[in-house]
Amino acid sequence: MSSGKRALVAGGAGFLGSHLCERLLGRGYDVLCVDNFFSSTRRNVEHLMDNPRFELMRHDVTFPLYVEVDEIYNLACPASPVHYQFDPVQTTKTSVIGAINLLGLAKRVKAKIFQASTSEVYGDPSVHPQPEAYWGNVNPIGYRSCYDEGKRCAETLFFDYRRQHHLQIKVARIFNTYGPRMHPHDGRVVSNFIVQALKSQDITLYGDGSQTRSFCYVDDLIDGFQSLMETWSEVTGPINLGNPNEFTIAQLATLVIELTGSKSKIVHEKLPSDDPRQRKPDITQARDILSWEPRVQLREGIGETIDYFDALLAQGETWKAERVGVL
Ligand code: NAD
Ligand code: UDP
Repeated sequence: MSSGKRALVAGGAGFLGSHLCERLLGRGYDVLCVDNFFSSTRRNVEHLMDNPRFELMRHDVTFPLYVEVDEIYNLACPASPVHYQFDPVQTTKTSVIGAINLLGLAKRVKAKIFQASTSEVYGDPSVHPQPEAYWGNVNPIGYRSCYDEGKRCAETLFFDYRRQHHLQIKVARIFNTYGPRMHPHDGRVVSNFIVQALKSQDITLYGDGSQTRSFCYVDDLIDGFQSLMETWSEVTGPINLGNPNEFTIAQLATLVIELTGSKSKIVHEKLPSDDPRQRKPDITQARDILSWEPRVQLREGIGETIDYFDALLAQGETWKAERVGVL
């Protein structure tokens, strides 16, 4: 049944965006999914096309958008290092000009607006785990800067629009999230390892594999988005959303090999520059303010994700993002 509310999901055809669109439709929203398919394809939302409350619009958020909505979710931005480093100038434009355009829209239509920020605002952190109060350790001129600094500037814009124009803002700092509908060639560690294992290819472990990440399953994250969006208006964030269970990348490789039963061997490759040594969210605020915490354990979530990629590869996937032609 329709709730009568209209949500715009920018970046809605992407990995997280497609799950969010699905969730919002399930809750009775009319959903306007806006995407330029830079790092995704329509395939992620094909199953939603028959729903009369779902609308897909090809649009680049670096250009203004005139629509009428009650809520805006800004997820538009390539998220994997391979994708965001493909056209770094466009990545910064998407984060900064995209935020300005969507904030302007929110101001005009008086919509509540959500920003998908990132743990990358903490850079290569010297505080561990990372609380929201930590200002970060970001290289402003490195290969990751287009993403990290773009997202930091977007946060600034959100808070200035709040202070200057009294917008209702919700800023989530998302830590590494994985699950079905990740792009199979996005170069992120979970998709890379699973696809490599299923294809019996070498598992590419960058560096010695002792760097850590904390992996959150997509369903848990989308629960967090909703809890944040539904809190009272004084709760603006930024608030960390992620799974605090920390693993080395070598442990992840071993787990993927075990769960796929693959004969793949682990090979070591050069660690990319500015690759954070460690990352783990402090989710005290999410627990206290949103009563939210992740439920899905890594073993279970990786199992679900393996099933997804297994089915995708069985279909003889020819998946290509439309714009990231090199992949
Ligand atoms: P994704 O690449 O699958 O999704 C991003 C979507 O934005 C894609 O569909 C892409 O085509 C679209 N997009 C890119 N540039 C655009 C533009 N100029 N105009 C319109 N659409 C554009 O990545 P994701 O993992 O789903 O990430 C979604 C959001 O969450 C991103 O903003 C990302 O920074 C943030 N985030 C994700 C993670 C994660 O682990 N998945 C972690 C931190 C933050
Ligand atoms: N990584 C790896 N092999 C791969 C892809 C990534 O060892 O095939 C490592 C990467 O160097 C990083 C970690 O896995 O230390 C997570 O990388 P990802 O690109 O998924 O996300 P981010 O670095 O943005 O957290």
